[in-house]
Amino acid sequence: MSERVIPLVDQRLQALPAHLPHPPVLATGTLADRLARPLHDLRISVTDRCNFRCSYCMPKEVFNRDYPYLPQSELLTFEEITRLAHVFTRHGVRKLRITGGEPLLRKHLPVLVSQLAALRTLEGEPLDLTLTTNGSLLARQAQALREAGLQRVTISLDGLDDAVFRRMNDVDFPVSDVLEGIAAAQAAGLGQDAQGHWRHLKINMVVKRDTNLNQVVPMAQYFRGKGLSLRFIEYMDVGATNGWCLDEVVPSQELLAMLQAVHPLVALPPSAPGETAQRWGWADAHGRHDPALGEIGFISSVTQAFCHECNRARLSTEGKLYLCLFASQGYDLKTLLRQTNPPVTDAQLASAIGHIWQGREDRYSALRAQMPPASRTAGKRIEMSYIGG
Ligand code: SAM
Ligand code: SF4
Ligand code: SF4
Repeated sequence: MSERVIPLVDQRLQALPAHLPHPPVLATGTLADRLARPLHDLRISVTDRCNFRCSYCMPKEVFNRDYPYLPQSELLTFEEITRLAHVFTRHGVRKLRITGGEPLLRKHLPVLVSQLAALRTLEGEPLDLTLTTNGSLLARQAQALREAGLQRVTISLDGLDDAVFRRMNDVDFPVSDVLEGIAAAQAAGLGQDAQGHWRHLKINMVVKRDTNLNQVVPMAQYFRGKGLSLRFIEYMDVGATNGWCLDEVVPSQELLAMLQAVHPLVALPPSAPGETAQRWGWADAHGRHDPALGEIGFISSVTQAFCHECNRARLSTEGKLYLCLFASQGYDLKTLLRQTNPPVTDAQLASAIGHIWQGREDRYSALRAQMPPASRTAGKRIEMSYIGG
């Protein structure tokens, strides 16, 4: 069998400087980019390492022993992350998502969670604080994370059949341990709302046609009745190493039809502006959504791009700001953060970030269909494991 040749281009090195603009950009909470999109959501990557090797994210051939992971000295400290997150809240950020790599590999993560949980929005409200994990280490950390102030969690699970799941994670990790992680999240109250429902406890499943399409209905049947949200993600061409091809993408419409044939679903309105998933609810005998049965979500980044309302910024583990999952360059905030002579104030940091956001016009998914395939896969983009989902 011939080996797949994968271009490895380290885009992390190519950061753009973050300037202090004149006149400064004030943090008023009304920031908008060139396409009039506000800044509401910050995703914070806390590590570029992972204990899984999902083929769609960190294929083993590339992410092997020789892969140049970021050295410890390059990582932002918890204090630096919290300071930046605070500055982002001054521009209107209301939601923080901790991600990776596998975020539960970062040592002392509950300490960071407690620092982030103490932040407030411009209006003085607590932030919506959540985390995305592969669930492998959740059973032993869920309670500590909850006690530190984590409210919700999203757990990735690509199938219930052990053989399929082991093939997807490519490190022979069993389904049972992730299910234990989900149970531990519930026992800790992660994702339960005031009415006792679990829709903020989310399970993410990436669907690849030839690998785990046969897991979609079993997953839906297993989680129906548990009250939580099961979300199907279209396999994306993110990064430059997963050998993406359109044939492997299963359009959400196809999945919806498969699920409707098993149990009726009703469309639900978006719960927040810029929400990535289209929501559907399991219907009761009267055709009405029963929250106790749970929800289905579709994240259709390939077939129905949602760039027009994308309000998310991404902070990499070593302090670069990315404006899009498909960006090839980030802005170096760490140099500003660590400048000592003279030190940079929070207002100056906010001004630099505001200036960068004002220049944003990224909308890769909306343009994907018009791009020639060669330019889509030119090997110039950051990896999902580096920036988080
Ligand atoms: N390791 C954690 C996890 O897997 O949940 C957090 C980081 S992971 C990069 C975040 C999310 O991105 C996961 O739900 C994962 O399934 C998804 N993801 C990774 N690569 C993807 C791809 N090529 N297409 C679609 N989703 C992808
Ligand atoms: Fe790791 Fe998450 Fe990427 Fe899988 S999707 S390799 S668990 S970072
Ligand atoms: Fe946002 Fe970029 Fe994804 Fe479009 S492609 S939704 S701009 S991250």
